[in-house]
Amino acid sequence: MAGVLDDAEISRVLAITAHPDDVDFSAAGTVARWTEAGLAVVYCIVTDGDAGGFDEDFPREDMPTQRRAEQVAAAKCVGVNDVRFLGYPDGRVEATLDLRRDLARVIRQVRPDRVLCPSPERSYQRIGIGHPDHRAVGSATLDAVYPDARNPFAFPELRERESLAAWTVREVWIAGGPDPNHYVDVTETFGRKLAALRAHESQTSHMADLAERIRARLALVAQQAGLPDGRLAEGFRVLDTA
Ligand SMILES: [Zn+2]
Repeated sequence: MAGVLDDAEISRVLAITAHPDDVDFSAAGTVARWTEAGLAVVYCIVTDGDAGGFDEDFPREDMPTQRRAEQVAAAKCVGVNDVRFLGYPDGRVEATLDLRRDLARVIRQVRPDRVLCPSPERSYQRIGIGHPDHRAVGSATLDAVYPDARNPFAFPELRERESLAAWTVREVWIAGGPDPNHYVDVTETFGRKLAALRAHESQTSHMADLAERIRARLALVAQQAGLPDGRLAEGFRVLDTA
């Protein structure tokens, strides 16, 4: 196991993802445990997921509003009441300097001890996990954590025009990467994770076997973690970034 900070040492967590629903598929069981332990969790969603959905009759122009509302409702299911959207176009995210500055801004505003983000690496086992937007957001988030947010001379306009002081994130949790080194037992919060996933109606309402699918995946992760039969887990690569 990695040298992971005790939750008691943490007051704020910032979860940065590419699309509405990413955090719920990858980490909502863990987020529910954090909020139950009294940690404040903020979500920052880079796109509105406007390229998502399955129903061709749903008006495309309504998709961004729909997906923001779904993410806000899903967040409530796991105790998160602060959800911020950056409004980048779904499917076209790149790890640009603009995105790094926008993420450094949110990090300096929220001042989290721990940041959760997607992996910048491609998965050859599960192609969907390595969606180009996920990889771009993972890469830009790591760059925003180091050096952008902590270097007072990076993006000086953040300090000069917005009075945002430099901030050092102590720990990053990467979800969906190829080599997890830390596992969270989410057996007790599985119901809350499932409720969060069901809140993404435009994405999950056609999945009759959603609960079974998610349960099977988390059971496999629990097995990798060496947990006893019947347990469920989410896996992460935890980096010390202090
Ligand atoms: Zn996604």
